[in-house]
Amino acid sequence: MARITLENLAHSYLPNPQGEEDFALKELNHDWIDGEAYALLGASGCGKSTLLNIISGLLEPSQGRILFDGQDVTHAPTAERNIAQVFQFPVVYDTMTVRENLAFPLKNRGEDASYVARRVQEIARMIGMEDVLDRRARGLTADAKQKISLGRGMVREDVNALLFDEPLTVIDPHMKWELRTQLKSLHHEFGHTMIYVTHDQTEALTFADKVVVMYDGRVVQIGTPEELFERPAHTFVGYFIGSPGMNVLPATVTGHRATLAGHEVALGRDFGRPEGNVALGVRPEYLRLGAEGLPVTVKRVEDVGRHKIVRAELFGQEISVIAAEDEEIGADQTRVSFDPARINVYANDWRVTPQGQGGA
Ligand code: ADP
Ligand code: MG
Repeated sequence: MARITLENLAHSYLPNPQGEEDFALKELNHDWIDGEAYALLGASGCGKSTLLNIISGLLEPSQGRILFDGQDVTHAPTAERNIAQVFQFPVVYDTMTVRENLAFPLKNRGEDASYVARRVQEIARMIGMEDVLDRRARGLTADAKQKISLGRGMVREDVNALLFDEPLTVIDPHMKWELRTQLKSLHHEFGHTMIYVTHDQTEALTFADKVVVMYDGRVVQIGTPEELFERPAHTFVGYFIGSPGMNVLPATVTGHRATLAGHEVALGRDFGRPEGNVALGVRPEYLRLGAEGLPVTVKRVEDVGRHKIVRAELFGQEISVIAAEDEEIGADQTRVSFDPARINVYANDWRVTPQGQGGA
């Protein structure tokens, strides 16, 4: 296992990149701590696979260095990096049996037969394929083949890191949950450095200790699920994480006060005098309908079981409010109030750090 350091890393698929927009991966500095489980989360096309392939060595970056435990591997081939990678679509040897497929990475490294047999059995149990170990991979469903790919990715205990690139895309929903749980327990058991790529926030938040959020070729925030929820560093993180996402309301801010369409809103902290496009970010969970606050018009109520999502209009803008399952949304709910301590302030989409709170 290893700590993986990215130093001034950037990548463009163009031979002569000009501006920043030509880079699929914008400049990035980051240490992936040894033994942590990370999720790499972002919409399709934001550069997740590009980053993963640079780490594994399938792709050489156009700029910067990659270090494993301080050793420069930027130009080292994949095989020398000692990494297991699982891709979105299955990569299996059709003519081999399931057992042979799972054993392949171990045999390749000359592990002894009794160890191989034992380890293959263990992995087969984890992926639920003990009964089909002697079947040939050809003829198995895509779902089953992907489980073999996952198993092969997990079979070696001595890798520097395990990389998963949206590995559950072709797996049915129930098995998805099961496999994700298995990956998590594998992580607890062996403490591998793991990077798990997904565009699905639920998958990211349930799998990882730390979530790395990417947007348009850039890492916009690295944090625990709680940090991403409470203090999104960028409005994109606010929208992308949470269901529904954070409300972003244009405002002016001075110290402890914000002004929204001429109405004052108290802020729990001192935000100084941010400049540029200033907005308040408030999660639907921290808005409250009632008789106090700013004037709103309720448009629709969606009952999603655990709670209600209320869509309302505030100064011409649609906002979302989460209300309790048993809360009556009636005609007397003409106002919305904010929990001051939970309001974040954004300037040009980036979070403004409140003063005197050590960045919290
Ligand atoms: P993600 O995995 O997040 O969906 P990718 O890393 O695959 O994103 O892609 C990031 C950007 O780089 C996209 O705009 C994509 O079109 C572009 N891209 C990916 N692979 C190549 C390639 N081999 N050649 C040129 N452009 C590419
Ligand atoms: Mg991808």
